[in-house]
Parts: sequence; structure tokens; C-alpha cells
Amino acid sequence: MSSPAAHSLEEVADGIFAYLHPTGGWGWSNAGLVVGGRDSAMIDTLYDQPLTQGFLDVLAPLTAHSPISTLVNTHANGDHCYGNGLVALPGVEVISSVASAKEMDELPPSAMAGLLSVADQLGPELGDYLHRAFGSFEFLGNELSPPTSTFSGFRSIDIDGRVVELHELGPAHTTGDTVAFVPDASVLFAGDLLFIQGTPIVWAGPISNWLSACAWMCALQPKVIVPGHGPLTDLDGVRAVARYLSAVEDGVIARHGAGMTRIKATVDLDLSFDQTEFSEWGDRERLAINVATVWATLEPTAAQPPVPSLFGELASLASRY
Ligand SMILES: [Zn+2]
Repeated sequence: MSSPAAHSLEEVADGIFAYLHPTGGWGWSNAGLVVGGRDSAMIDTLYDQPLTQGFLDVLAPLTAHSPISTLVNTHANGDHCYGNGLVALPGVEVISSVASAKEMDELPPSAMAGLLSVADQLGPELGDYLHRAFGSFEFLGNELSPPTSTFSGFRSIDIDGRVVELHELGPAHTTGDTVAFVPDASVLFAGDLLFIQGTPIVWAGPISNWLSACAWMCALQPKVIVPGHGPLTDLDGVRAVARYLSAVEDGVIARHGAGMTRIKATVDLDLSFDQTEFSEWGDRERLAINVATVWATLEPTAAQPPVPSLFGELASLASRY
């Protein structure tokens, strides 16, 4: 399948590489490599095996001298772990948080293949949306290689003399979000706690915890930040994500308090984002998921909308832009 644009490899500090996708939209994630002595740690794989193979091919001159001994999955979304099978060779430790490992079991590549196979039966608007978002990736025949080692809270790993710290800051974007920090170079791989020039998705929440994660990243003051999607960023990028999350939470609470339905609140809040800094961000319709996640905290006993119906709301919102 064709990519809308190609990843590129950038050395962001001595022996630390970011594999960046220029658009960062649905499934077009970033990944990384930390070289330490005669070993390397990969930070995340990509959404399918061909993309991950492309990453491995680009890395080959580096990993010939410093083979990958460790793979870190920052969280459970497939665009950060569905390529694991190509990397998780015998002797390679695959690490995630306990919560992420559990969540990976819940949405294997076969589930995405199944969703795409019925997309055309879900109506033209939703069908087109799903094909646009996910149709470029190869989910069929891909078995997920799960983590072989899990942790909760904090773990420090040693890549042949180079320390990489894993800090679990979720639940926020997903249940077990983890960031990887290389202290000797002050480089932070933030996973999907940061979408830059793209709209963050609050699958798990609560937003208060994601805001705490943003505050934690600001206090860390890393020199270089590699987001899960979008270009390299700095603390201004972290603050922009925090502003968006606060605007969503405050906006939903106000509209819920005013007696709006969830759907009405979504459309109304979306309109209020016109001509703001958020209106230029990609995949803006993800707001529908974010509103539903906050709404669930306000009405915890109400039935939650199923994900396919939420995607129908996304497709409908997207038709406005
Ligand atoms: Zn992602």
C-alpha cells in the first residue's frame, strides 16, 4: 500500500535517532533508536510489518554494529506495536507497562483487518472515512508479538552502558502510556502523550492525569522531545497539548452543565474551536472521542457509545472541514 509521504531518520543527539513521519495522521507514527555501546534499544515499532521493515532497513548500518537488544512499546495502540514481530527475535527483550501489555491483547491486528473488511457495509460516509484513515496499512496475516517483560511505574534499562529511563505516566491517551528518557542526552520519547500539529485522542483519560503528564514533561525540561506523531518539539509543544486538553475538558463540563446532549455538545464545542490554534491541527474530528471520554466521567452509569458509532460521529464531523 502507498504511504502519503515517507518517514525520515534524524539523529537528534549522539547515537539517538528519531524516525519521523511528516504528516503524523492516523497510523503514521514516529519511532526511535537509542544506541548504547554494542547494543541498541528501539522505541516503538510501526503500524504494519512493511513499514517496520522499512525502518529496520534504514537502521541496518547502525544495528549491524549495535544490534537491537531491547524493544520498548510506549503504549498499546497498533501504530506503536503491530510491527513487533519483526523485532522480537530470540534474545530481544520487549518491554511495556503492565497496563499496555494487557491492552494490546484487546485489539490485535486481526481486529483492524476485520473492521476494514466490513467498512463498506457501514455506510458510505463511515466506510470512506475508515478506508482513508486505515486503508494504507497491512493488517492481514500479522500476529502481534506481545511484550516479554512488563513493569509498573518506573524502570531503568541499561543498553550496554547507556541508561534509558521508562516512566509510566498513564492512564491518559491509553491505559498504560510510558515515556522513554535518555538522561545523558536529555532526549524524551513521549509516545502519544504528544501529538504535534495533530489532534490528541483521549482514548482512556482522565484528562487530569494527562495534564499531570504534561506538567511532568515540562518539569523534566528535556532538550529534545520526540512526539508519538508529528515533528520534533519542545516545551511549547507540550503546553499546546495541555491547552487543548484543558479546553476540551472545560468545554464539555460547561455544555453538560447547560443540559446539552453529548452529540450537541460535540458539534457545539467543535464550532467553538474554529479560528483557534486547534483548528489547524490534523484529524480535528477526534474531538468526538475526546468528548465521549469526558462525558463518561460526568455520567458514569450511562451506557458508553460503541467505538464504531463513535467513528460514525468522527466521519460526520470531518465532513464539515
Ligand atoms: Zn500513535
